[in-house]
Amino acid sequence: MAHVRVNVQEIRERLQREREETLTNIARLQEGMTYDLETSPEEGDPDIWEREKIASLIRSLENKLSEIDRALRMTERGDYGLCERCGQPIDPARLKVMPTATLCLKCKQELERQAAARASRE
Ligand SMILES: [Zn+2]
Repeated sequence: MAHVRVNVQEIRERLQREREETLTNIARLQEGMTYDLETSPEEGDPDIWEREKIASLIRSLENKLSEIDRALRMTERGDYGLCERCGQPIDPARLKVMPTATLCLKCKQELERQAAARASRE
C-alpha cells in the first residue's frame, strides 16, 4: 500500500474546526426559524418559502456534518485518505481541497455516472 502523504493531524484540526462552525451555523439557522414562529403568528401566513429554504440549508449542513464525522472517524481508525470503494489512496491534492472526501476521483465520477443513469431511467 502506497504511503499517503497527507498530514492527518492537520486535517483533523481542520475538520474539527469545520465541525464546530457547521454546528454553530445549524444552531443559528434553527434559532432563526423558532424566532420567526414566535414573533409573527398574526402576520398572516408565515413565509413558507423562506422557511423551506432555511430547512433545506439545515439539511445540507447536517449532511456536511455527517461527512465531517465520517472523515474524523477514518482519521481515528487510520484509514483516512483511502478510497472507501476501491481502497486506493485518494489524491492528497484532492483531500486538501475537500478534506471530507472518502472516495477517489475515479470512483466518485463512476458513482455519479451511475446515479445520473439511474436518474434518467426514472
Ligand atoms: Zn476509488
